[in-house]
Amino acid sequence: MAVALVTGGSRGIGRATSLLLAQSGYKVVVNYQRNKSAADDVVNTIRGAGGEAIAIQADIADELQVMAMFVEIDNAFGPVTALVNNAGILFQQSTIEELTADRINHVMSTNVTGYFLCCREAVKRMAHRHGGNGGAIVNVSSAASRLGAPGEYVDYAASKGAVDTLTTGLALEVAAQGIRVNCVRPGLIYTEIHASGGEPGRVDRVKDLLPMKRGGQPEEVAQAIAWLLSEKASYVTGSFLDLAGGR
Ligand code: NAP
Repeated sequence: MAVALVTGGSRGIGRATSLLLAQSGYKVVVNYQRNKSAADDVVNTIRGAGGEAIAIQADIADELQVMAMFVEIDNAFGPVTALVNNAGILFQQSTIEELTADRINHVMSTNVTGYFLCCREAVKRMAHRHGGNGGAIVNVSSAASRLGAPGEYVDYAASKGAVDTLTTGLALEVAAQGIRVNCVRPGLIYTEIHASGGEPGRVDRVKDLLPMKRGGQPEEVAQAIAWLLSEKASYVTGSFLDLAGGR
């Protein structure tokens, strides 16, 4: 049985992905950090439609919490066969002159270390050399890794650059172990992350600058993630799918 862990599955792109994977027949683990009611709502929606899901609270930046989460999944559903590294953060828009080490380290520990830790635990369970049956990983990066997010959050953009490199390196490292590792790079998607940057209406402000003249919906990103995880993408690894309206 396919078991998917979606980090940050409680809101935004993670929520849409959790719902879609459940519809596709996965048992879904909805990870969250703080927003238990949002995570419970995703789980209840899945169960209401006849699917299987549980919510697990864990800060992906915390090594012990990540290890405990994977053990909890082993016990509840069996080992993870699909990992969506999605949970990510950004802070108030600012120039580099205003960044502090605390802020940079916070962004990196969640968006980079957190992704590494979840990949590590997933690979230990999926790799043929550990007796696993293989699996698939999708890392959620950002168009910011290509664009740099000047004047807004270069720290965030740099963390996504690291996610891109993680994708390439890990894909090659585990290609012969039955594990595919791919990456989606969303552009401007309607979620609450923009409020964290201090501008909830950011997508509508910028959308006319995009070739497609509109922002994206979380469900549009979820479709790409689900495809990359599926057997339909069986010969795809180390690849990047830009979901950014042409930017
Ligand atoms: P969002 O709506 O702000 O949701 C963030 C999710 O991440 C929430 O479920 C949150 O949990 C969880 N989370 C945050 N820190 C966590 C931690 N330390 N441990 C576990 N969970 C944590 O964000 P989103 O827009 O859907 O973004 C999802 C991913 O897409 C991120 O990696 C983001 O960088 C990327 N992305 C988004 C856009 C966009 O325009 N929206 C564009 C490019 C890339 P709680 O609910 O418990 O707080």
